[in-house]
Amino acid sequence: MDNLGYMERAELDLLHTYNRYGIVLEKGRDVYLFDTNGKKYLDFAAGIAVCALGYGNEEYKAALKTQVDMLLHTSNLYYNPPIIKAAELIKKASGMDRVFFTNSGAEAIEGAIKAAKKYAYTRDGHAGHEMIAMKGSFHGRTLGALSVTGNKHYQEPFEPLLPGIRFAEFNNLDSVKAQVSEKTCAVIMETIQGEGGIYPATKEFIEGVAELCKERDILLILDEIQCGMGRTGKMFAWQNYNIKPDIMTAAKALGCGVPVGAFLLTERVAQKSLIPGDHGTTYGGNPFAGTAVSAVFEIMERDKITSHVQKIADYLWDRLDELKDKHGCIIAHRGMGLMQGLQLSPAVPVGEISKKALEKGLILITAGTDVLRFVPPLIIEEEHVDRMFAIMDGILLYG
Ligand SMILES: *Cc1c(COP(=O)(O)O)cnc(C)c1O
Repeated sequence: MDNLGYMERAELDLLHTYNRYGIVLEKGRDVYLFDTNGKKYLDFAAGIAVCALGYGNEEYKAALKTQVDMLLHTSNLYYNPPIIKAAELIKKASGMDRVFFTNSGAEAIEGAIKAAKKYAYTRDGHAGHEMIAMKGSFHGRTLGALSVTGNKHYQEPFEPLLPGIRFAEFNNLDSVKAQVSEKTCAVIMETIQGEGGIYPATKEFIEGVAELCKERDILLILDEIQCGMGRTGKMFAWQNYNIKPDIMTAAKALGCGVPVGAFLLTERVAQKSLIPGDHGTTYGGNPFAGTAVSAVFEIMERDKITSHVQKIADYLWDRLDELKDKHGCIIAHRGMGLMQGLQLSPAVPVGEISKKALEKGLILITAGTDVLRFVPPLIIEEEHVDRMFAIMDGILLYG
C-alpha cells in the first residue's frame, strides 16, 4: 500500500489528536528514514529526540532480539537481571542514587511529583504542599504533568488540575523567589525548555534556583526527558552546570525507541520518600525495557557519544549561525549541544518551512509557535549537517 492508502485508513480509525505530516514512515537506516513510497529522508528530528543512536544500530538490535527470545515481562513482583543492570548504568551516568523505571516521560514526571510530595509529607508530618513550575514549560499530557506545564492552551479544557502549583518565569530568579512560600516543596523545570522553544537555563538562573532550594529544603526536580542522554555533550544537561538535582526525570532517548522512562532520587530524598504501597506500574522496567536502557548506555559509553556530540554540535552551531546571517527571517538561534532552535519572524510560519523541508527530503520539527527545532540522532556527521544546510538554504531563498 502507498502513503495515501495508509493515511486514509489512519484518519478513519485513529483518534485525531495529532495533525500529522503527510508521510508514512516504514523503515530507518543510520540517520535516514524511508516512507512507503520508498522516498528517503535525512532525519533531524529523531522521533522527537528519541532515536539518539539513529536507526539500525547492530548491537542495540542484537541485544533486543536476544531478550525477546528470553523474556519480555515479569511484573515488578519479582527481580529481573536486565533492569538491575540498567539501574546501575543510569546511576553511574547521573550520580543519582535510586531509580524507578516508567513507560513514558509523563509517567516519570508523575512519579517525580509524587516523590517530592511524599518527601515533604514525611518531613513535615502533613500534606498540602505547593510546587513551583515554569511558564513556557512542557512536562507531558497526563493530568499531573499537565498541571506543571506552563501552557494555558494545553491546560484549560482539563481544569481543575492539581492545586498548589505556582508558575514563575524561566530564567528569572527573582520571579522564582517571589513564588516561594512556607508550603513550597519543590521547583520543577526542564534544564533546557524543549517544546516551549529551545531555551537553555542560564547559569545564574539554574545555579541560583539550586542554591535557593538548598537553603529552604525545597527539592529541585530537573526534567531531562528531552535534553538528557548525551544530547548536550554531557550525559545529562544539568552536568553542564555546577548543580545537582534532588530528583530528575529521563525518557525519550533512554530506550532509543523502546518506550521507557525513569525518575531518579538522591539517597537523602529517597530516605523520606516513596515506600512500598506508595507507587507502582505494571510494565515499568520490564526485562525488555531494561535491556534497551543497558544497551543504550553501553553503546553511548563505548562510542564516546558525548565527545562526538560536543564536536558535531559546534559544527551544527556554526552552520545554523551561517543560515541566520544569510536569511533575515531568522531572528534568533538558541540551544545547547544537539538541541538547537532557529526562531523565525512571524511572517514565515515554521509549519510551512518544515513541510517544505519534508518535500525536499529533510525531517524537521518545530517548537513553540515560531521555532524550527534541530534534535537529530546523536550520530550525525558533518556531511549530514551540510546536506541539511543546503536544503534549508534553498527553502529560505526560493521557498
Ligand atoms: C516529551 C517530554 C515529556 C513527556 O514525555 P512523554 O513520553 O511524551 O510522556 C516531558 N518532558 C519533556 C521535557 C519532554 O520533552
